[in-house]
Amino acid sequence: MRAFRVTGPHTATLEDVPTPEPLAGEVRLRVGAAGACHSDLHILDDPNALGMPMPFTLGHEIAGWVDATGPGVTGFSVGDAVAVYGIIGCGTCASCLAGRDNECRRVPPSGVGLGRDGGMAEFVSVPARQLVPIGSLDVTQAAPLTDAGLTPYHAITITSRNLVPGSTCVVIGVGGLGHMAIQILRATTATRIVALDTRHEALALARDLGAEHAFLSDADAAGRIRDLVGPAPGGAEVVLDFVGSTPTLEIARSVVMAGGDVGIVGLAGGTLPVSFGMLPMEARVSIPFWGTKAELAEVLALGQSGRITAHVETFRLADAAGAYDRLRRGDLRGRAVIIP
Ligand SMILES: [Zn+2]
Ligand SMILES: [Zn+2]
Repeated sequence: MRAFRVTGPHTATLEDVPTPEPLAGEVRLRVGAAGACHSDLHILDDPNALGMPMPFTLGHEIAGWVDATGPGVTGFSVGDAVAVYGIIGCGTCASCLAGRDNECRRVPPSGVGLGRDGGMAEFVSVPARQLVPIGSLDVTQAAPLTDAGLTPYHAITITSRNLVPGSTCVVIGVGGLGHMAIQILRATTATRIVALDTRHEALALARDLGAEHAFLSDADAAGRIRDLVGPAPGGAEVVLDFVGSTPTLEIARSVVMAGGDVGIVGLAGGTLPVSFGMLPMEARVSIPFWGTKAELAEVLALGQSGRITAHVETFRLADAAGAYDRLRRGDLRGRAVIIP
């Protein structure tokens, strides 16, 4: 079969590899769709830094159909439509036992398409416990919901204490994750949404999806938000930063209210100084990572209800490299989804 594989720093190519045989406890999927994520670019830039053994097949946002089951697998039949919960924790630490593989205490973040073969291939084998049924949801929708949907859903869940009616949530970055965050906030809260981005078309999308205000993320952005939320120590109840650069974190720091929440989701590598005086009293900063399997089932249910829709642009597997080039240039209209 063909697979789009990381073979070294800055090197990913389409290769012919053997079709995987499902091991004990595993299920082989015929891949229906696999999303291209910004974090894949970080892997491509420096797979060694992340400690991921190469080569491996990219793709950690996967949906498809059960093709074969390995020894000991029950509860799945050939043809079942499923999505893959991508994080593989140790399965035995207190976090994993509580269903929070995303904060496993024993193994660093890794999973399907993250050091082990992922979904940018015609087939992929994954442990059966990673699968979540998707019912009638289209695989092209289900795949991006497993990360581009799940990650903002989790960030919203852990800041939900502050997302009460009358609150303001600032969403920085209206890309693959941010455009889902706006929809999830609309579907699950009554918060007022203020979106920031550097691109006018992203601001138009944010307004279409339900942001009450959408501003350019420039030197005046914090002032515009302050005009809406009033002076410190008041401010925005929640700021979700899907960029994570030093300038966007500075905006987050300067508009969040006392007792508010800043969630840093984006991987741009910026720095937020944390000390008395740098943030309002009682403010909390979190580094949400992906989400739990239970949350994935909830996100898929939102997708199935039609209340959230991933904006996607589809590519053939042969065009995967081009999809990542477009992702790097920032000129995709929605999530790039590979259809093997
Ligand atoms: Zn991702
Ligand atoms: Zn664990």
